[in-house]
Amino acid sequence: MWRVLKFGGSSVASATSMSRVLDIVGAQAREEGVVLVASAISGATDALLRIADGDSTPLDELEKRHFAIVERLFTGGEKAALTARIRELFAEMEAAPAAEKVTYGEILSTTILCEKLRTEGWNAVWLDSRRLVVKDDLPETYRRIRAAIPDGADICVAPGFICCTSAGEVSTLGRGGSDYSAALYAAALDASSLQIWTDVPGIMTADPRRVPSARTIPVMSYSSALDMASHGAKVLYAPTIAPAMEKGLDIEIRNTFAPEGKFTRICATPDADAWIGVSVFGESLRVTGSSPDAALKAIPVLRDALVEAGIAATGIEADGGSLNVTLRPGVVEQGLRAIHRALFQTGSITSIPVFIAGYGAVGKALEAMILNTRQSVAARCGKSINIVGIAEHAGDYIDEFCRNAPKGTVFVDCTDSESIWREFDKLFRAGVSVVSSNRRSLAIPYVDYAALHASARENGVFFRYETTVGAALPMLESISRGANSLDEILSIEAVVSCTLNQILSEYVPGRQSFARCVRQAQAVGLTEQDPRLDLGGKDALRKLLILSREAGVHLEESEVQITPLIPQRLFNVPLDSFYDELEAMEGGFEAAYRHASENGCRLRFVSSLERIGDGYRAGIRIREVAQEHPAYHLKGTENAIIIRSSLKPYPLVIQGPGEGAAQAASSLLNDILR
Ligand code: ASP
Ligand code: MG
Repeated sequence: MWRVLKFGGSSVASATSMSRVLDIVGAQAREEGVVLVASAISGATDALLRIADGDSTPLDELEKRHFAIVERLFTGGEKAALTARIRELFAEMEAAPAAEKVTYGEILSTTILCEKLRTEGWNAVWLDSRRLVVKDDLPETYRRIRAAIPDGADICVAPGFICCTSAGEVSTLGRGGSDYSAALYAAALDASSLQIWTDVPGIMTADPRRVPSARTIPVMSYSSALDMASHGAKVLYAPTIAPAMEKGLDIEIRNTFAPEGKFTRICATPDADAWIGVSVFGESLRVTGSSPDAALKAIPVLRDALVEAGIAATGIEADGGSLNVTLRPGVVEQGLRAIHRALFQTGSITSIPVFIAGYGAVGKALEAMILNTRQSVAARCGKSINIVGIAEHAGDYIDEFCRNAPKGTVFVDCTDSESIWREFDKLFRAGVSVVSSNRRSLAIPYVDYAALHASARENGVFFRYETTVGAALPMLESISRGANSLDEILSIEAVVSCTLNQILSEYVPGRQSFARCVRQAQAVGLTEQDPRLDLGGKDALRKLLILSREAGVHLEESEVQITPLIPQRLFNVPLDSFYDELEAMEGGFEAAYRHASENGCRLRFVSSLERIGDGYRAGIRIREVAQEHPAYHLKGTENAIIIRSSLKPYPLVIQGPGEGAAQAASSLLNDILR
């Protein structure tokens, strides 16, 4: 049995490359007979065509390259003899009719290879393809090749590309035709294997010189290979496929420069994927596919991908399972990459499993947002979020969840549980990250807070909760960015209680009482179930703890001085009488309001952290803020935070919407993706 190994021009371009070829051939010849088909050394065919055109400039260089190879590969008498032979071949070429000059490239390269194999001790025989390969006559070609193989040869070396016509004139099989020569030798001999050795790792999803992320197609059908090869893919000469297919011969496309690396096998298999590869075909692109159904469905997808890349396709047409994409001139490379990305880089999208705990307004908004943004998130970040489970509430499912959660899962705490944080360590140890919108699970003693962070770090997972303060505003991130650069916090003023901002910005004495404003806020669901929690500063306290700790200050609840809006006794009465009592306090609220107005100020509920000597002072109270203060202009549920720090000459102010399920969902989504 014979194996046919074909090596292209770059595989035989130098002495070093030729040595590689000889190693590959030698290893295989120890197992079976080898027919080695070779191209001319790279550039030789072009040079010879110019010479045939009457331009003799490339001749010198061409001779030098061949002599240099001989110089490097041979010694002594063998070198002298081969040098003389090469000189003769050049003389023959110069004397030959113009049309025949081009055939000498392959004659030269194979003469050198054959000689070298002989010096290595192989019984190597040179076959003259000019007599054996008859253009357009397969039966005759096969007959002649079979008859030409001498008994006892280990290796036959045959020039690719060149042939004769039925009339006996020397001719060629067309540019790139050496692949076809190899297929003819293989088909004639019923070879056990046909290997096309080139300078790329097989047929790839796109030309790797144009699309660096192109990858090898391990197995493909004859028809897909034919589709690619006949629509611009340079790696294989299209006519090569027919003789192999007829004989049921597999074609392997291998890389001379990484012989053990990835390669492509072309055979009678059905294609594994709907999309095979993209090639450049003139000013248009050929997207080779194997399913007419998938091709039709892909048209709008490709159109979008091109628009996204700033390219308008002038036409996309299905042709069987493949597509022809016509582009306006000048954007072919960009279009190629955009389409390759759309069809082949989906595999590089990381999937993030997400579990949503707490199915209230925020949990529901997050679910909807994940589903709605799936495509754009994949395109923008190369990530795809998969909801693997949703739980109505915090509950006792966490142990079970930890046992089954795939690594990299993100647990999203959208509950308002005060105790769910006790499960976080377990989640971290199971390789699960936590993203939270639940302030209660953060406003915990500092030691517990620090332990959670340490555990997340040790387990290589993350614990993020940007949503807990100022909803979608990047408050925590801004603080921790400062902390990373040792930008020491001098003070933080945070106006982050949506409820109180709403109430205080609505309240105008005489128009409606303060108590009414509170009632209204409760009616629209802005307050906690019991609005006194807001008025007492509990919610602001939690947020201040989170903010301060993000700044590296180990603040505890007990260290925060809260001046509640209402006296302590109002906390202990039923809600109805609370409102009556609040109504009765209207005089006090009005006085505070008037005092502020007279000073050109407004009332705001401000949480603050201030550097005093070596320590910090934290407080929450109603303050009069003047017109220059960023909080003066806050409206409704707007939030603001003003950070003064050592590296910043002016305070950093972040202001914007502080509330809303969609805001919270968007912030959670970003914590998941970050
Ligand atoms: N040497 C020829 C060419 O450059 C044939 C081949 O390399 O396949 O077209
Ligand atoms: Mg080639």
